[in-house]
Amino acid sequence: MNILILGGGGREHALAWAIKQNPKCDRLIVAPGNAGIARLAECSDLDILDGAAVVAFCEANSVDFVVVGPEAPLAAGVADATRAAGILTFGPSQAAARLEASKGFTKEICDACKAPTAGYARFTDAAAARAHVQATGAPIVVKADGLAAGKGVVVAMTEAEALAAIDDMFGGSFGEAGAEVVIEEFMSGEEASFFILTDGKTVLPIGTAQDHKRAFDGDEGPNTGGMGAYSPAPVLTAAIQRQALDEIVKPTIAEMARRGTPYTGVLYAGLMIDQGRARLVEYNVRFGDPECQVLMMRLGAQALDLLLACADGRLDQVQVSWAEDHALTVVMAAKGYPGSYAKGSEIRGLSVLPETAGQMVFHAGTAEKDGRILAAGGRVLNVTARGETLAEAQARAYRLVDAIDWPEGFCRRDIGWRAL
Ligand code: ATP
Repeated sequence: MNILILGGGGREHALAWAIKQNPKCDRLIVAPGNAGIARLAECSDLDILDGAAVVAFCEANSVDFVVVGPEAPLAAGVADATRAAGILTFGPSQAAARLEASKGFTKEICDACKAPTAGYARFTDAAAARAHVQATGAPIVVKADGLAAGKGVVVAMTEAEALAAIDDMFGGSFGEAGAEVVIEEFMSGEEASFFILTDGKTVLPIGTAQDHKRAFDGDEGPNTGGMGAYSPAPVLTAAIQRQALDEIVKPTIAEMARRGTPYTGVLYAGLMIDQGRARLVEYNVRFGDPECQVLMMRLGAQALDLLLACADGRLDQVQVSWAEDHALTVVMAAKGYPGSYAKGSEIRGLSVLPETAGQMVFHAGTAEKDGRILAAGGRVLNVTARGETLAEAQARAYRLVDAIDWPEGFCRRDIGWRAL
């Protein structure tokens, strides 16, 4: 079959890598893709936020299956457009994507289905929000309601920080995304990610992972899109996964169906684990980046069968076959990230690295010029390896990192520390 993946980061490279290994995949196109993806698929500069353009592209290229990587096209209704045109699509509808696109909406769903999460209040004006913070005190969490690429959340340790965040959000720093603000109770504990496929009826867990949000070793420095991840996450024990499924995920999916906006696709539950129980921090309506890289490394070719079954309502007929192993990915970023950084530096040494089912360098922000691979973004490479133990996966990943010659880049040296 002909498959189109929308997106161009490390997540989409990992999806393309896994999907390409499945014999059902004939032609693979990724839009926009990147230099790493271009080695295994065709890349297209199709506008992935334009549903009509995506449909026209699918018709012109006889695309049988569309996999939507990032949240922006989902929130823009691209999956609705392709499904309406009769094209099998992996990814939730625009209405269901509100589980990520509106934090206030997610809280409303949690209330309706009694899913455990932080207490909260919603505000559309600064004075009422400020009064709430002054009455409640810190620590407290201030969130822009809409999509803000991970930057719209302030975990305020002091009242002053919370008030500044409120002024900032209502002052327009996040545009429309900040027109409403959600203020939440601070939850302590350890965070982990839980990934579930659902066709709206069947719920199939496909793995756990833990991310590293801060830029530097020891969880120091500014927040980033994620500097590394590993799977599985031992903090998400079988018992906590069951609790999260029964009390959070399944009730959410039932509530979405009850409202006539059934959720289909991957549901990524960000959980806070404290005293043996999970509470919901947030939902994402797509795979995490870089968590997808470790999940795909562990799933391999079967990922396509799972995504297909999810898209056409056959999830009850498939099973995940797990290798009892571990995967770990290290993000190599341009020096300066997540602040300002230079683009265009050359990355050497990639072409001689062995890439196998056990180790892969997924490209996140790269471009190719005259046969040379150049850095073209903040997060640039996701160096990923598997191992029988997490320690082995970590050692292999860092061996690969050390073989890459890119003086303008940096990475954390402690990915996986919590579980090791
Ligand atoms: P991202 O895209 O980075 O996942 P986001 O903008 O979708 O972020 P959230 O995941 O809701 O926002 O929050 C970002 C981070 O802030 C969480 O991963 C968590 O570390 C912290 N956080 C959010 N809500 C709370 C809370 N109620 N208590 C404690 N920490 C929180």
